[in-house]
Formats: sequence, C-alpha cells, structure tokens
Amino acid sequence: MNEYDSNRIFDSIKKIGYEKTENYEDANCYLLNTCHIRDKAKEKVYHEIGRVKKIFRSRKKPLVIIAGCVAQAENAEMLKREPYIDLVIGPQSYHKINDTILNFIKKKEKIEETEFDAVSKFEYLSKIKNKVSKVSSFLTIQEGCDKFCHFCVVPYTRGPEYSRPFKQILDEAKYLADNGSKEIILLGQNVNAYDNEGYRLSDLILNIEKLPEIKRVRYTTSHPKDMTEDLIEVYKTSKKLMPLVHLPVQSGSNKTLRSMNRKHTIEEYLTTFDKLKKINPKIEFSSDFIIGYPGEEDKDFKDTLNLIEKVKFINSFSFIFSPRPGTVAENLDLIDKKISIERLEKIQNILFQNQIQMNKSLENKIVDVLVENLTDDNSKAFGRSEYMTSIIFNGKKSDIGKIVKVRINESNRNTLFGEIITNLGQKVA
Ligand code: SF4
Repeated sequence: MNEYDSNRIFDSIKKIGYEKTENYEDANCYLLNTCHIRDKAKEKVYHEIGRVKKIFRSRKKPLVIIAGCVAQAENAEMLKREPYIDLVIGPQSYHKINDTILNFIKKKEKIEETEFDAVSKFEYLSKIKNKVSKVSSFLTIQEGCDKFCHFCVVPYTRGPEYSRPFKQILDEAKYLADNGSKEIILLGQNVNAYDNEGYRLSDLILNIEKLPEIKRVRYTTSHPKDMTEDLIEVYKTSKKLMPLVHLPVQSGSNKTLRSMNRKHTIEEYLTTFDKLKKINPKIEFSSDFIIGYPGEEDKDFKDTLNLIEKVKFINSFSFIFSPRPGTVAENLDLIDKKISIERLEKIQNILFQNQIQMNKSLENKIVDVLVENLTDDNSKAFGRSEYMTSIIFNGKKSDIGKIVKVRINESNRNTLFGEIITNLGQKVA
C-alpha cells in the first residue's frame, strides 16, 4: 500500500512543480514514506534522517517530509525530536500535502497533519489521475481496520475502516486499463471488509473483470472473518480472479488466536479452506505467521504445524513476535527468545519446502505467464504465474503485457525458469 500511496503523493505534488530524481544532489525536497509494521520502525526513520543530513552537509538543506504510518504514530513528537524534519503527514492527510508544502515554502511553518480524513483524501486523489500504470497495478479500495488485533498498530495508524466509493474505484480501474494495466491488485488493510452502500469486494471483482484489457484480478490482504459467502462464490463465477488466496492466519492455535484477539477460530478458517478447495481444487493458500506470541506453548506451536500440514501453504511470511508501541500485546510477557528462534527455523523450513515442492511440481509443465518486463540486462523476460511466482524465460519486449505460455525447465524456491511456447495449437506438416 505504501508503494501505491507514494505514487499517489507524487501524482499530487507534480501539480506544484515537483519531479522525481534518483540523485540526492538534485533534490530540494526529500520525502520519506514510512511503514510502522516492521520492528523498530521509528528508530529506522531517525537513522535515515541522520544519513540524509550527512549527504546534505555541504549542500542546501532540502525540505524534509515524513509521511506514512510512523508519521501518524509519532506526529508532533517527530518535529520536536528531529528539527531537521520540516513536515509530518499521516496516511489519511495526503490530500493536504500540496497546501502544506506551499505554506511551508511561504511561511517556514512546521506542521504535522495527522487527522483521519479518508473521505476527503480519496475525493481529492480521485481528481488526480493515477499515472503509475504498469502491467500490474495496485488500486487501493479500502483503508484502516476496526479489528484491533492485539499485536497490530494499523487501527491506530490508518484509522477506522473506510471503503472508497464503488464508482470511484471503477473509474480508477478503467483509467489504469486504458493506460496499459493488464492486472489489478485491489488493496486494503482489510480488503475483504470492503463495503460501500452494499457493494462488496465480490462486486468490485466482477465489475473490474468486465474491462477487456484486464486479464487478471487479485486482492490483498484479507481477514478470515470477512471471507463471506459472496466472496467465496466469486471463485466460481469469476473468469479473471487468480487462484491464490492470501489469507493470514497468524497461528494454528485457538488459544493463541483468542489471545491475539483475531476473532476467528481455526475451525472457521478450515471451513473457508474446504469451501474454496471444493469450488476449485487448483486454489492455493498463502499466509502470515507470528511465531512466539506471548503465551505460545509447545502445544500451540504444534497446532500451527498441524495447520500448515493440512493447508500446505505455498508461500508465507513468518516472523518472531516483537511488540509494537501502543498495542495491547506490548505489555505481555515475552517467551524465551531461543525457543522462538527454534520454532521460527522449524516453521520456515517446512514453509520453504512447500514452496520448493510446489515449484518443482511445475517442471516440464506449461504455465500461463503475464509478462511484466524484461530482466535488467534485457536478455530475458520476466513475468508471473497465476500463483504470483516469478518466471524468467526467453521472451521479447513485444511480449510485455501479454499472457504467454511457458514450459518450465527449472525451478528454485522463488523462481521458475522456462522457454516460451510459440507454436501451441498450430498444425505441423
Ligand atoms: S485485521 Fe489485520 S490490520 Fe486489522 S488489526 Fe488485525 S492484523 Fe492489523
């Protein structure tokens, strides 16, 4: 979502004359869009500002703006702690960024803008075209979260759940399609909680896939509790929804899920899994796991291993729990670090094996690849399978944006390698 936001911020500040540069020497504005999910996010921001200070030691100081969730969480404190920072702007205030910058240039007034005003933000952004149209484009449909999982800062940094108006999203999708996008990835912290005047995520998928230019639709990140029947059914009716479901479960233990305030059980998760597999056995799952959550015992960890054994996630993120400031879990007693490390190693070994096996099973098979670009040295093409796996093959520039058939020759954990099939379906005399 930060990639989407950064691009939208840039679409906005272009209007007041800014251009992007890769060279620090040229910059008279330095904008850091921050994420609060990772460990020690706040300290990393101050560290980065220290680095910028050094770079600009013998040059004119740029206008320094901190945006994103760390800006939201820290707000005025940032301006106090680091006078090198000029403006602080939270993720729901990007519609104010041009005025804030112009005001600073005129009056040198340091400001923090951290109100939750998602309605005005998206109204404003909908008037500025989303210029970053790529073969695969992000499109934010929903922001914020009302679930308050005990380990998570999102409800405090992105604010309450907000769903963008249905028509506004369809207009942006059409604009992306008209400008070269072939795949749209619908984004939201709680994307499947999308609800705008009765329109749900399933309605968005079915309407976006009517655009003939769009070949693939994906969405992320979803919550198990919001896997409603209409969304499950859409896997039956949709022609373009990809068969990879990223459905974070965090733990396989009901006790741990309760303690995390996840609001669903493993039985409910598995019911969704069974329903989707019944609709289409080709559907695969990926997830996020927090290992060593406070109170996690051997039995809870075994429950997580059992769940992985059942679902056979093909791709997952797994981390050791680390407390985030301001969350309920911040005050819970940590479990022994050594035990957490051992558990993480064990779980990652299994998850990586699943990934390797899945990729190996595709060797000597033909897969559909949406071609995104050429490799850095232009010698090959790069694309993705239906399951988001990277594929490198002997494609050409003219293949970019097309879905081509590739025979897989080799694989490793993260990538498939193959040859494009050019004569499929043609008669040979
Ligand atoms: S549902 Fe997701 S975004 Fe919301 S609080 Fe839980 S982990 Fe955070």
